[in-house]
Amino acid sequence: MKVASVLIPLPVPEAFDYEVPEGLNLTRGDQVAAPLGPRLVRGVVAEVFETTGSNRRLKAVDARLDDPPLPPRVVDFVEWAARWTLSPPGEMAATALKGLRAPRPRPERRVRRVERRQPLRATPARLAVLEALGAQTLTPADLARAAGVSSGVIKGLVDEGVLEAVEIAAEAAFDAPDPDHAPATLNGDQVAAAEALSQGVADGGFKPFLLDGVTGSGKTEAYLEAIARVLRAEPTAQILILLPEIALTQALIERIAARFGAAPAEWHSGVAPPRRRQVWEAVSAGRCNIVVGARSALFLPFVNLRLLIVDEEHDTSFKQEEGLVYHGRDLAVARARIEGAAVVLASATPSLETLWNAQQGRYAWLKLGARHGVAVMPDIALLDLRQNPPDPQTWLSQPLREAIGETLIRKEQVLLFLNRRGYAPVVLCRACGHRLTAPDTDSWLVEHRYTGRLVCHLTGFSMPRPKLCPSCGAEDSLVSVGPGVERVEEEVRQLFPEARTAVFSSDTVPDGKSARALIQRMTDGEIDILVATQAAAKGHNFPGLTLVGVVDADLGLRGGDLRAAERTYQLLAQATGRAGRADKPGRALLQTWTPEHPVLMALAAGDRDAFVEAEMAEREAASLPPYGRLAAIILSSENAQAVEKLANDLAQAIPNAERLEVYGPADAPLALVRGRRRKRLLVRADRDVNIQAFLRAWLSRVKVPGSVRLTVDVDPYSF
Ligand code: ADP
Repeated sequence: MKVASVLIPLPVPEAFDYEVPEGLNLTRGDQVAAPLGPRLVRGVVAEVFETTGSNRRLKAVDARLDDPPLPPRVVDFVEWAARWTLSPPGEMAATALKGLRAPRPRPERRVRRVERRQPLRATPARLAVLEALGAQTLTPADLARAAGVSSGVIKGLVDEGVLEAVEIAAEAAFDAPDPDHAPATLNGDQVAAAEALSQGVADGGFKPFLLDGVTGSGKTEAYLEAIARVLRAEPTAQILILLPEIALTQALIERIAARFGAAPAEWHSGVAPPRRRQVWEAVSAGRCNIVVGARSALFLPFVNLRLLIVDEEHDTSFKQEEGLVYHGRDLAVARARIEGAAVVLASATPSLETLWNAQQGRYAWLKLGARHGVAVMPDIALLDLRQNPPDPQTWLSQPLREAIGETLIRKEQVLLFLNRRGYAPVVLCRACGHRLTAPDTDSWLVEHRYTGRLVCHLTGFSMPRPKLCPSCGAEDSLVSVGPGVERVEEEVRQLFPEARTAVFSSDTVPDGKSARALIQRMTDGEIDILVATQAAAKGHNFPGLTLVGVVDADLGLRGGDLRAAERTYQLLAQATGRAGRADKPGRALLQTWTPEHPVLMALAAGDRDAFVEAEMAEREAASLPPYGRLAAIILSSENAQAVEKLANDLAQAIPNAERLEVYGPADAPLALVRGRRRKRLLVRADRDVNIQAFLRAWLSRVKVPGSVRLTVDVDPYSF
């Protein structure tokens, strides 16, 4: 009998076997309806094989679905990604089918001529209709407009059988990009980079690149030119561009539309489901060349994927931590390998992993020199707060205030960067010292003044600011501690009442549309001072912006995590890189209590190499990534004892392994979230150790009770 292994969306490590009914021809990638308990579920065929053992009592596949099959290479990718991240392959496959959840847009009713049928009465209106229609198939409304008649005339012709009504599936049209629509004139470095990239695609096979150049050096321009060359050589080539934030997509889509005369397809959670279905089907039919998307676009069913671009590759937003845990950049490289395609990781501040790969010669390293044209890098200076302490309950030092004032007089713009949402990060009671937290959760409540609420950024819990201390009941004893962007804006408005100010954070710009509107206002010079979190520090070009003030440059450096220094360097380099474009020189002032910190000194000196060298040396000494590998196992449950027990079981069951250590169990960095206890075990291994095989062996030795959620995080970022 014939058996199909089907990837079913369930949290289990294997595919399910089903009998293939007589007469049903299935191959890898086909989508099927398969029985699961009393239901039918959508699954993807991973394998079909013959078996003689007739004692197996398998349920039968119900039917093959109409939807297009997943290309076999997408199935390869799904299976590889599931193995790499130790995720259930059926759930990975479900990610690749997400676009199909929405119904197809309703088919359109149109009319066309029935051959050799003449109208019984040939009125002028009827003849006008037949003339306007010719051999076309049009909607009745379009036809009525074209012929200048009322819709009754068309109905009459249909009733008489001269015209017939047909249903046409609404297929989205994606205009073909024209590589020569609006070519750019590139500088020497850009030409060299575009040439290398397009040559890599032309040569065929897997080719990874690092595209490395300061903000504004023209990386985007260079890869757009590479895309043009690829499309000129191969008009059916498909190209995927991944961005870390939805807020960045619109600007790139507009740039691509301007360059190629056709907008690319857009793919992320903000795109309406029926539209996503159209994109999915167009990508799968090869009717769409360029897709701009978030990391989930990696799972689209491309049929001729030749080039992947991961822009701002260092950005930690590429790491998905909810649901399936994976790193979009790493999976992009894997997808390119499986497709035999080129992949470009672009950044002004590449991750240490990517730099390491480039240093080792595993990635071709393309460098763009200076900023394009006459634009120069901003002048970066550290402001020692020990010498210029701000007044109590204010956050801007005298020198920064003066710099803001001078910039405003020149009618130029200011960006004040503080990576903290809301008004104040902590609210505490002066009487008893109690700090307000969300119920059953370890993180502090953040005060938001615009909404008048205290909000937990982790769980979304919120409440009005209480009058009394919830712990000791004291009246008027609660104080807001420290600044968030709202509080800095308050200070700025008091200092510069004439200036037009705005706050840019995920609270004030919750979606792509509002982000676009605010970015436009800033670009048009309608805002003088923008106070922003990292949401605005990435990727945007503001031509009138000449001063960037970093309110608290020490902020990220205090965290104890592996990537604290790297992340702070990247974030501050991005933020300060917003200053000055084109012909206006920019400057950046970083307020700090620790101007001797090596990260800040490297930033001020504009010496990325010095920072990278020092940071690499530290990682190497500790055998941490990129010199070693990490994985975390996180256990969580409302039942604290069950977590404790499983953690201990795991600790007892560690397989023997060399050049590998297990740390913990210990409380996870967030030990209590929504009443769930969280514990963590951390694995460190040398680079050449197969950490996945170790984890699989280990996990097979314990039984996970239903009450505990176990998450594996290969290459964890938040700890
Ligand atoms: P990056 O991606 O490295 O930040 P961009 O490609 O966005 O850089 O370029 C920065 C700015 O310089 C953009 O406004 C872009 O239009 C302009 N620019 C870059 N290269 C060129 C070029 N060759 N000709 C004209 N303008 C360019």
